[in-house]
Amino acid sequence: MDQMAEKYTEKIQNIIRDLRPELQELSEYIYEHPELGHEEFLSSKAHVELLKNHGFEVEYPYLGVETAFRAIYKGEKEGPAIAYLSEYDALPGIGHGCGHNLLGSTDTGAGIALSKLVDEIGGTVVVLGTPAEETNGDKVTMAAADTFDDIDVAFCTHPSDGYYTSGTSMAMEAIEFRFYGKTAHAAAAPFEGKNALDACLNTFNNINSFRQQMHPSARVHGVIKDGGEAANIIPDYTRAEFYVRAMDMPYLNELREKVIKCAEAGAMAAGCTMEWGHYEASYHNMITNETLSKRYNQNMKLLGVEMQEEERDSMGSMDMGNVSQVVPAINPYFEITNGKTVSAHTVEFRECTKTEEAYEGMEKTIAAFTQTAIDLITDSTLLEAVKDEFNQSI
Ligand SMILES: [Zn+2]
Ligand SMILES: [Zn+2]
Repeated sequence: MDQMAEKYTEKIQNIIRDLRPELQELSEYIYEHPELGHEEFLSSKAHVELLKNHGFEVEYPYLGVETAFRAIYKGEKEGPAIAYLSEYDALPGIGHGCGHNLLGSTDTGAGIALSKLVDEIGGTVVVLGTPAEETNGDKVTMAAADTFDDIDVAFCTHPSDGYYTSGTSMAMEAIEFRFYGKTAHAAAAPFEGKNALDACLNTFNNINSFRQQMHPSARVHGVIKDGGEAANIIPDYTRAEFYVRAMDMPYLNELREKVIKCAEAGAMAAGCTMEWGHYEASYHNMITNETLSKRYNQNMKLLGVEMQEEERDSMGSMDMGNVSQVVPAINPYFEITNGKTVSAHTVEFRECTKTEEAYEGMEKTIAAFTQTAIDLITDSTLLEAVKDEFNQSI
């Protein structure tokens, strides 16, 4: 750690101590008001109000998405632009079982903490409110738009049952198949029909036999959303939804084409026609910037946290993946479960987000995020190394 970096440790701790009650209140308010993706009206407003109170200029709604926002705080001196990405969507039935209430408070908190320092050290802080991570994530929208054009580095984090180094996530496409046939009386004249349900079932069977040739890391899983109207009518329309996932984009592209072939063949065998499309946004795989990740882990170590080097390679997919393909990024995990193994998307995990251990994880993550941003702003060699790695990785 260089001297410049060390100088801010106490300042950061003081800033976080002052901020803690507001951040805890934000997380608990959002916990009490769980909202599904693209319905996060109260949650996004709570973030926006807090950021405005701390002097941020806010664009809300952002990119035509009602529950998205972009908050910016420009320091008095020029310098790199650092982005923190907040989430605040909940899950059906179990509310904040993924802990996005705390995720949002942590990332927005890091943005506010850094904003207290950029007048002195230079730079710009951007906090992005990114809706619907669980379904149709708007980080995808933002990565495809010009959101990150002026951003040098982007940070996101996630609550977990350990402190894990930023890793990878799977590239994913959400593909639906629609099959069209011809109705007929299933008893009196089945031979006059074209069975769209058979086309759909053939597709599942074709994909299942293709599994033997799939790379073991790939995942293809689907459900039938429309399977016909009545058992005595040959269905003329069926629809299935699939997620197709791979560890990188080239294999995802290959896998998608093969899965489509399975559906084409299934339709052909049943004398039906098939159309396909995307029913949700596609997520790219997460590329962790290792230079950035290493510095973050070092800063965590100064706070007494040993990041588990064994990367948390998520077998799921996340929209931060798309961001990591347009700007250097990391997505480390912080512990909220007090040493216990608790999976996300459960009621137990949701309850962990309100514990003292969870707030400790939040504070440590904010401190390390802030210090890492200061390192990037004050040490141009580090920022260049981060950018060089990024340019080589894409
Ligand atoms: Zn999550
Ligand atoms: Zn989740």
